[in-house]
Amino acid sequence: MSNVTVCVRFRPLSHKERKANGDNVCFRKLDSESFVFKYEREEDVIFSFDKVFYEDAQQSDVYDFLAVPIVSDAINGINGTIITYGQTGAGKTYSMEGPSILHCNEQKTGLVQRVVDELFVCLRSSASTWTVKLSMVEIYLEKVRDLLDLSKDNLQIKESKTQGIYISGSTEISIVNSSDALENLSVSVLEFYSECLSLCRYEFIFACLSKLQQGIANRAVGETQMNLASSRSHCLYIFSVQHGSTSDERVKAGKIILVDLAGSEKVEKTGAEGRVLDEAKTINKSLSALGNVINALTTGKQNHVPFRDSKLTRILQDALGGNSRAALLCCCSPSPSNAPESLSTLRFGTRTKLIKASPKSIPEVVDNAKKPILGTHDQDDLRDRIL
Ligand code: ADP
Ligand code: MG
Repeated sequence: MSNVTVCVRFRPLSHKERKANGDNVCFRKLDSESFVFKYEREEDVIFSFDKVFYEDAQQSDVYDFLAVPIVSDAINGINGTIITYGQTGAGKTYSMEGPSILHCNEQKTGLVQRVVDELFVCLRSSASTWTVKLSMVEIYLEKVRDLLDLSKDNLQIKESKTQGIYISGSTEISIVNSSDALENLSVSVLEFYSECLSLCRYEFIFACLSKLQQGIANRAVGETQMNLASSRSHCLYIFSVQHGSTSDERVKAGKIILVDLAGSEKVEKTGAEGRVLDEAKTINKSLSALGNVINALTTGKQNHVPFRDSKLTRILQDALGGNSRAALLCCCSPSPSNAPESLSTLRFGTRTKLIKASPKSIPEVVDNAKKPILGTHDQDDLRDRIL
């Protein structure tokens, strides 16, 4: 298997698509890994991926296949990334967040809620100290904006020996399972400890998700202020997990990044003009930078991988460059009317599948004494490797 697990998800036909084309779809299912793609302007083509989720796939199916291995690796100190790619309306955010981050039935909850839940289960059953830190940022017009604190609208990306690549100064909410660490928690998190000093599953999940909901709401605030559609920005959920064993004074640190990418549709189709066109170009620039990075990684030009060409590729460098597990969910509309965009998404997925680097099998373990204090990375020994 390649370094990046690549899956495809066809969402159900929308009412509008059904009205226009009846029950017609742009693919014929072969099995759970392949299908024939039908596009009137080109010959039928067979696509194969690690897994294909058809219209009736459940959110739990996507989570189990894509995310479970990544979450368990993160707990053991291996970083993981899950990226949703596809045109606007293809189902990226639905797969990530479900119809709503806090208020949807359990069956429909997305990858984000399920990761939070799974982390809690691991945290609960662990004898040693755990810390989970959450942050949420958006990349819009090549600026990294903190969705948990809108005053931080141009965060810098840095690199350190212990952290790898990280976003400096982003707001982090901490959930810690040791009582002596409680004094370091923010007031909002402390409220959840007011009754007793032990974590409850739903309190933990609520503490995390209500913060993330605030981030999602902040995204919407930006939309009205800057006429920004969320489909034009990349949204990143970052979970940092630290697992400390007091007996040998060592701690394992793993990171999970969930990325809801901007829509991959071409500018011409949106009829963009003026500033909106600038926006679209910048977004396409970072998406095409992602394509260029993938091309370089798959064509043996590993020495010249242009990770630094965009904020997005810089942040994803560890994930795609082989120090991490990565999964790509290519989201597609099943409608023949969206066949050109779906075809381009499927080609992107096919190229990504060819990335061959393998993740480090030995978990990164840092000495507890030298353990970095998360959130104050600036003092870390910064390397500025030429990439
Ligand atoms: P994107 O984030 O790619 O722009 P969305 O996730 O917002 O697209 O999905 C567009 C619409 O399709 C939304 O109304 C969403 O609820 C619906 N949708 C997407 N995927 C599914 C799915 N697997 N099952 C049911 N509805 C879906
Ligand atoms: Mg979306």
